[in-house]
Amino acid sequence: MPDSGGMPATRTTCPYCGVGCGVLARRLGPETVDVAGDPEHPANLGRLCSKGAALGETVGLEGRLLHPEIGGERTDWDTAISHVAERFATTIAEHGPDSVAFYVSGQLLIEDYYVANKLMKGFIGSANIDTNSRLCMASSVAGHKRAFGSDTVPGTYEDLELADLVVLTGSNLAWCHPVLFQRLQAAREKRPEMKVVVIDPRRTPTAEAADLHLPIRPGGDVALFNGLLTWLAERDGRDLDYVAHHTTGLFKALSAARASLEETAAATGLSEKQLRSFFALFQATERTVTVYSQGVNQAADGTDRVNAILNCHLLTGRIGKPGCGPFSITGQPNAMGGREVGGLANQLACHMDLENPYHRKLVQDFWYSPTIADRPGLKAVDMFRGVADGRIKAIWIMATNPAVSMPEADMVRQALKDCPFVVVSDVERDADTAKLADVLLPAAAWGEKDGTVTNSERRISRQRAFLPLPGESRPDWRIICDVARAMGHGGAFDFGGPDDIFREYAALSGFGNDGSRDFDIGALSEIDRAAYDRLRPTQWPASERNGKRGGRFFASGGFFNPDRRARFVPTPTAARDEAAADDSLILNTGRIRDQWHTMTRTGRSTRLSGHLAEPFLAVHPADAERIGLAEAGLAEVSAGKQKAILRVMITDAQQKGAVFAPMHWSGQWSGAARVDVLVPGLTDPVSGQPALKSARVHIRPFQPRWYGFGVSIARPALEGLSYWALARSGPGFRFECAGSGDPAEAAVSMGFASQALRYLDNATGAFRLAAFEGDRLDGAFIAAPDPVAAERNWLTGLLGEPIPDIRDRAMLLAGRPGDANAGPGALICSCNGVGANAIRAAICDGASTPAEVGQATAAGTGCGSCISEIRRMLEDVQVAEAV
Ligand code: SF4
Repeated sequence: MPDSGGMPATRTTCPYCGVGCGVLARRLGPETVDVAGDPEHPANLGRLCSKGAALGETVGLEGRLLHPEIGGERTDWDTAISHVAERFATTIAEHGPDSVAFYVSGQLLIEDYYVANKLMKGFIGSANIDTNSRLCMASSVAGHKRAFGSDTVPGTYEDLELADLVVLTGSNLAWCHPVLFQRLQAAREKRPEMKVVVIDPRRTPTAEAADLHLPIRPGGDVALFNGLLTWLAERDGRDLDYVAHHTTGLFKALSAARASLEETAAATGLSEKQLRSFFALFQATERTVTVYSQGVNQAADGTDRVNAILNCHLLTGRIGKPGCGPFSITGQPNAMGGREVGGLANQLACHMDLENPYHRKLVQDFWYSPTIADRPGLKAVDMFRGVADGRIKAIWIMATNPAVSMPEADMVRQALKDCPFVVVSDVERDADTAKLADVLLPAAAWGEKDGTVTNSERRISRQRAFLPLPGESRPDWRIICDVARAMGHGGAFDFGGPDDIFREYAALSGFGNDGSRDFDIGALSEIDRAAYDRLRPTQWPASERNGKRGGRFFASGGFFNPDRRARFVPTPTAARDEAAADDSLILNTGRIRDQWHTMTRTGRSTRLSGHLAEPFLAVHPADAERIGLAEAGLAEVSAGKQKAILRVMITDAQQKGAVFAPMHWSGQWSGAARVDVLVPGLTDPVSGQPALKSARVHIRPFQPRWYGFGVSIARPALEGLSYWALARSGPGFRFECAGSGDPAEAAVSMGFASQALRYLDNATGAFRLAAFEGDRLDGAFIAAPDPVAAERNWLTGLLGEPIPDIRDRAMLLAGRPGDANAGPGALICSCNGVGANAIRAAICDGASTPAEVGQATAAGTGCGSCISEIRRMLEDVQVAEAV
């Protein structure tokens, strides 16, 4: 389609979170892409967050896997495909179908997922295919199925705007689903009477924007919603008509939940006053939406947490009506598509059940397959344990990085090292998991792929290719079909393109579907290539049988249990996890605003790396004092023999007894910050989702001989240092490090030329270096016995710039400009590259609201994700002035 500039732009979908924003992408040159929000996409209506807005900076080919490899040697596709097919076939022949596995990803498109699932469940005959979405929303799937009889998200994004009360629980929406947060904030501006309650142990940017923040004790979620159920049942908070006509099981659920306000307060760590405020607000507000995400799902009782929330909505009949309902939001762009297509080890395709013989027969008949898996396969954590103990002898990992993102990450890495046959199809040549592969298969990346994804509100959108396939890379669906054909399953995988696969998938959803299955897109089963190419974002269902298109579910019942009623599920409050007798703390892992998954894509962007350029450990001041941690010092975090080293960030946004660390940093970008090595493989017994937010860890100060900060055009060789973290910056890199040897020798090992400008202060032990290529800054390195106090963004801004004047070069060695406010300061607004100094200056010049700061500096006028930080700066300056 032409855009306003007259250049052709392609309508596609963002590859990051489950909001599923529409993107207009325009190729300007070989590695230059311009992106903008698609004003016609119903998920975002033109908005993008900082990650989406920076997509154009991530399409370069540096580090791309461009050719198939066997044993680290380049090979051709025919050889690679035959080798993979032959090794899988031999393993299956010798050890049975359950000796092989696929570990797939929410980055795959529906068409990729569909053929992978078909191959494993219908032709290999095992259900050993599981997706990394297991780590993000399996508890929501299980909770939905227990209550509704189907994995149905009842509502739509619009409900968040129509609600009078939005409850966000276990969701840092402002950072993790920013465009949905923007929509919510815009609705609040129009209707200031609307209320937002945030339930989160941390005072996140989302919590800071709430009308009421409930800083719940970690693990108190079930108790809170049981307390709410009790409150609603004992007062006039019920919809008895809805309960009587559309549900069963209230009595048992209520008996299990029953708790006094006092007991609920004790179990949640909240005061009775806080509970009363929340419960009364919920009771009084008909139009209430409860949004939940990983903070609910990633727990050993995640499925109970989900059902405790659903119970409250069923009791009030607030489900499937405008502005009402429980709303699970997914973490990945196609996590929802993976659920629909059968990417989980315990589901068949199109929301059919493995345990249901009728469903198995339907799917097998439809596929004309020689077999069909008849029992659930290994879920993610068990799958890698199966690799470790030898049950899995051949595994194919597609578009994900389990050596970083899985709990027990070191065990996973070792298991893959020891596994007889590991295939990785991916984009990135040097991702941690790719390094462990016997066979590497180059896959198409975002912008090169063509297919569909489903977002959190059941909306199917097209990802369209607008870049040529680089090197010999191929779309995932084609790689999978090639292997299937080489294994002798030609006819069933003879697809000419993604549209062929989509038609088959849509037809299966309607096959034998008499209305007993929620997922039905049968009306799209005749779509031709041209219509598939034009396909507008389409919310399911799209049923041929009854003509139903999109919309909400369950306002008038019609659940998918055999009696068409929903189930109240008893969710007893578990005994509280009393603080361990030792001095351990609870480690909560999660996301930050500007990074995605294991940074294989976002790590390429300077802008995104500028916001938080280093992994960190957020600690409450009282814990920091008790442990002896200093701000900006380093902490060693351990769980048994597993260790990580992280930068200390002391903040009262953190609760006492609990710490937070981001999950993004891999071995590509850091020396010891793969925090999932600290997380045990504890899973929810119903969903199999790992508890990624409640590891018990011990913390102590880590005291290196020196701390360092540097910038470099070339990637510095940091391996071997006690601590390091690397980030993209302008034409090169910036890095933080620490060491135990001589910093001058370390600089040489990093690759700095020995003839660089140097300064050594024998009295303090400080060492500084600046290297030039001609008169351009090629790199700089500052080391000191204490954490380095340099103006980092000023220094990184000079990288590659000409600095002919000797006095300016001397200032470089000082690590800061002569005028303390001359540099940009810490990056606040990634979209417009605005630093803290410019914002502070605007505040000093009279800006008193985020909007006025935006007018003066452009900060916060892009995606708006930084507005809470701007608000905090406004408060800080106003407090300072008052003092
Ligand atoms: Fe992408 Fe941001 Fe939209 Fe999520 S909110 S889909 S990351 S642009």
